[in-house]
Amino acid sequence: MKHQKVVIIGSGPAGYTAALYSARANLAPLLYEGFFSGPAGGQLMTTTEVENYPGFIHGITGPALMDAFRKQCERFGTTLLREDVDSVDLSVRPFVVHGKKTESTCDALIIATGATAKRLDIPGADEEGFWQKGVTACAVCDGAMPIFRNKELYVIGGGDSAVEEAIFLTKYGSKVYIVHRRDELRASKIMAKRALSHPKVEILWDSAITRIEGDKVVRSINLLNLKTNQEIKRDAAGVFFAIGHQPNTDFLKGQLKTNTQGYILVKPGTSYTSVEGVFAAGDVQDPVYRQAITAAGSGCMSAIDAERWLSELEIG
Ligand code: NAP
Repeated sequence: MKHQKVVIIGSGPAGYTAALYSARANLAPLLYEGFFSGPAGGQLMTTTEVENYPGFIHGITGPALMDAFRKQCERFGTTLLREDVDSVDLSVRPFVVHGKKTESTCDALIIATGATAKRLDIPGADEEGFWQKGVTACAVCDGAMPIFRNKELYVIGGGDSAVEEAIFLTKYGSKVYIVHRRDELRASKIMAKRALSHPKVEILWDSAITRIEGDKVVRSINLLNLKTNQEIKRDAAGVFFAIGHQPNTDFLKGQLKTNTQGYILVKPGTSYTSVEGVFAAGDVQDPVYRQAITAAGSGCMSAIDAERWLSELEIG
């Protein structure tokens, strides 16, 4: 079993940035990039243009951005493993990391496994259908795409995210419909008021999208009224899932304190978790901002926290 000073789990902006900073601090980190859990690079690998990551005047594709992150942390001596982590043992130090094929121990562990946007199993919404061709789970990432301009857009959900995304999309679409399964929003009162009073937003209560159709991109949806059972076809150019995220923490098996939604709790303003020597960065500990730039920033924080913690123990 190989011993490392720092192991990082997760390969999005948070994980790679944690690796870059740890590598430059001479900690020779080992980073588990994942394999079956999804492409190395995380959620940005499923987006097209990223126009809000600072430093790229004309934008950059998500995969190109992640490729640069990856190569940059590798250049400074990060070892990358294309492997999923099945479980970790945080009850002993050094901590034990059980990968699918390998096992390692480490003095400090950085968890940056991200979160997965929940999606619904609607015909036409998957990769064989219109996923990323009008169907997405991130309005902030994808909303400005030309296919959505001056078109009718649909956001599924009734929480703060659905409202926030719908209002954001009014900049681009001719009309934005929020499709909610109940007759009352879950969103906070102030957000609900914004949605209800916005001239370009309309809420379709007690409703569900049952089918998404199109040619190269989305052209229509079937809308079902869950109370009357009436189904109608409507023009649509975009369907945005905003039904929440699921933090990727199953492999921790309850060894770290989380909030009720499963997000890892960190000491405010730091990356310290409930277990000394374990740090969390990126979306796995952030239910609010969830942006590449905030994830990268918290990845940097986790590496600095880990490095300082190791030096106090005279390991780093
Ligand atoms: P959320 O509060 O969990 O809301 C998810 C919404 O999706 C709910 O309305 C839910 O319906 C609906 N939904 C869930 N599963 C569904 C399904 N299978 N089919 C149809 N609809 C489904 O998630 P969120 O809106 O992403 O917010 C997460 C957290 O971040 C919240 O604490 C929120 O306050 C916070 N947040 C804050 C802001 C802000 O303050 N600006 C912005 C975004 C998020 P039901 O209501 O029927 O359960």
